Parts: sequence; structure tokens; C-alpha cells
Amino acid sequence: MQSPKKIAILGATGSIGTQALEVVQAHPDAFEVVVLTAQNNAALLISQALAFQPKAVVIANTDLYPTVRDALAHLPIQVYGGMEALVEVVQLPELDLVLTALVGYAGLAPTMAAIRAGKHIALANKETLVVAGELVTALAQAHQVALLPVDSEHSAIFQCLPGEGQNPIEKIILTASGGPFRGKTRQELAAVSKAQALKHPNWDMGAKITIDSASMMNKGLEVIEAKWLFDLRLEQIEVVVHPQSIVHSLVQFEDGSIKAQLGLPDMKIPIQYALSYPRRLPSAFPRFDFGLYPSLTFEKPDTEAFRNLALAFEAMQRGGNAPCILNAANEVAVARFLKDEVSFLGMSDLIADCLAKASFVAKPSYEDYVATDEQTRRLAQAYKPQ
Ligand code: NAD
Ligand code: MG
Repeated sequence: MQSPKKIAILGATGSIGTQALEVVQAHPDAFEVVVLTAQNNAALLISQALAFQPKAVVIANTDLYPTVRDALAHLPIQVYGGMEALVEVVQLPELDLVLTALVGYAGLAPTMAAIRAGKHIALANKETLVVAGELVTALAQAHQVALLPVDSEHSAIFQCLPGEGQNPIEKIILTASGGPFRGKTRQELAAVSKAQALKHPNWDMGAKITIDSASMMNKGLEVIEAKWLFDLRLEQIEVVVHPQSIVHSLVQFEDGSIKAQLGLPDMKIPIQYALSYPRRLPSAFPRFDFGLYPSLTFEKPDTEAFRNLALAFEAMQRGGNAPCILNAANEVAVARFLKDEVSFLGMSDLIADCLAKASFVAKPSYEDYVATDEQTRRLAQAYKPQ
């Protein structure tokens, strides 16, 4: 019997974080929660801390620190406030693995700190690789740390690779559900509302990734994430729309064989695989039934209607800090869309504007990424819709 894996969950109160805790709860012998963190949901963080008794918790919003501290004062749990504490807690010596389930650029610094401390990473926070994929993958290699994908598409590809030894990948095919607006023309997209964009047909996720899925930016970010995770050239990555979300992605080898991973759209499967890797643990998750899915369909993505996907390919092609610009612009675009300050199509205009105006750096350092993120956010906030 192995001792339980000791894990930190950054973003424990979110969609991925809460599902990860369900996985932990189902396998108390396999996992032990050492760190839990959240941004604003103090009440849920407190109840999670009471249930899982971690060694440390962090509430990133410092205004809420006294609330969390007082609620847990009777327990031997260290309570910290502020973003900087994330960088500290991921380095706790007993930790084996850090699940990065927080949203956006905020994931970069704690992920880098965890890698430097030699912790394996279960990576949900795709933005980390979009912003600084070259830096982060090199750092992981230098510290011999695994980057275990949680994103369902990347988990699918990862699950197709064992047994292939040195066999090169010819290409990968990332599947996309197409989101709630699949099949709509640009003209129809001009009028879509926030409420419609927040309703994903197959997945129940946090607000940011739900909007990214509606705009197809999520798939653009995933193309960049896949490039770095699997060390591919952009030409080796294809996107295909598959509305049923059953085939989670595919890998094609040099003999033309294609392997795929299938299953019901349930994030607990890739979360559990990243936590338990290289083992597979039993699960009670509902099983796929071919009888209920008589047809699985595939179609080409429409990059004219969904311009964000084209912008992501462009940014990756340009390289350097362009994907970092894309990410920061997109984070602000989504936030402004959710505040009704820009329209659905206006998000792409804002991102294109930032890509044109932000300073390009061909070989960015960490400091360059920080400066790029700041500059782009300023440009994106100042952007005035036409
Ligand atoms: P969510 O909004 O549901 O939860 C985010 C969590 O991160 C919350 O616990 C929140 O408190 C915390 N957080 C947010 N901003 C923070 C900040 N600035 N500093 C510290 N903590 C912060 O998000 P989610 O849907 O769970 O997504 C998390 C990550 O996983 C994202 O990068 C997303 O792209 C990726 N992902 C999610 C899914 C999914 O099914 N939800 C699937 C694939 C990948
Ligand atoms: Mg995904």
C-alpha cells in the first residue's frame, strides 16, 4: 500500500477544484489534501477546510482573511491572505503534487514556484502555458517535474501515448464541442447575449472558460497549450468540431494510425487521471453507452465566424510574447463582455487591437511577460468599441 499522494489545490472553490475534492473524497487512501486556496469564496473555503483538514489555506482576497482566520482559529490550520502566499504554500516540503485550478494569468507565478520546488503539476490552468509555455516547459524539464494535463483534450492525448516509446506523433486532433453558438454566422453572432454565451451545451464550468468556449478562444488557448505540452509544431495541430463531446481528442502516428480516448463529458475523469497518474483508480462515474449515442459527428471549425480561433493561431505563429498579449487581452475582453462593455464580436476586435498595439518581444524573459501582461491589460481596458 502506497502512502497517499499529498496535494495542493489552487482554486479549490471553482468548478475544477470542487470536482477534484470529490475525487479525493472517493479515494481517501490515495490522496491527502495539504493545501486549499481560493480567491473570494470564503464560506466554501472554510467548509472545505473543516472537511479536509489541510495543513494550510490561502484566501487570495486579503479583505476576507480575518473571516477565514477566525473561522479556523480552533484548528491546527495555517491561514494566509493574499496572492503572494500562493507562491509560498506550493513549496511546503511534504507536497507531492499541485493542482492548478485557478483562472487566468494568476496561475503563472505559483506554478513556476511549485516547479522550482520540485512539485509535480496537475495543470488545469491552461493560461500558464499560453502566457509562458516555453519558459514553463523548460523549467519543468530542468527540475524533472511532470506537467500532467487536466484539460480533457490534453488528457485524452496524454492517455493515448503510453506504450508508444519513442514513436513520433505525426499530428494531434483536438476536438471542440463548438459551444452554444455552433453553426451561427457572424451576423447572428453580433446579436448574442451574455446569458446565451454562459449556457454551454455539454460542460458545466467557470464563467471565464464558458465564455471562451462560446467564442472558441478556449480551443485557441488549447492549441497553444498542446503545442507546449507535447512539443509540437503548429502545423501538427488540427481542430475538429465534435458536438457530442465524446471523443476527447486524437493522436495520429507516422503509420497513419489514429488513437483516441472516449468517454462521457465528465471532468472528474481527467482530473482523477492527473492526480493518480500513472495509476488508474476505479470510479463510479456514469459509463458511456453506445446505444444512447448512435451518431458521433465531426465538422470543420468556422474560423471566419469564430475569429478568436484564427487570432490564437496567428499569435502562436508570431511567437515571442504574442500569446501572452492574446491571453491578457482575452481576459479583459471576457471581463468586459460580462459587464456589457463590449459585444460578443467586439471581444475579437479588442484582442486584435491589443495584438497590433502591444510591444512585441521575440525572446521574452519572465519580467517581459509580467510587463506584457500589464501593458496589454491597460490597452484592453482603454479600448473603445467601434
Ligand atoms: P472557476 O471560475 O470555476 O474557479 C476558479 C478558482 O480559482 C476559484 O476557486 C477561485 O477562487 C480561484 N481564483 C480565481 N481567480 C483567482 C486569482 N486571481 N487568484 C487566486 N485564485 C483565483 O474556474 P474553473 O472553470 O474551475 O477553471 C479553472 C482553470 O481550469 C481555468 O484555467 C480553466 O481554463 C481550466 N479548465 C477548466 C475546465 C472546467 O471544466 N471547468 C476544463 C478544462 C480546463
Ligand atoms: Mg478543454
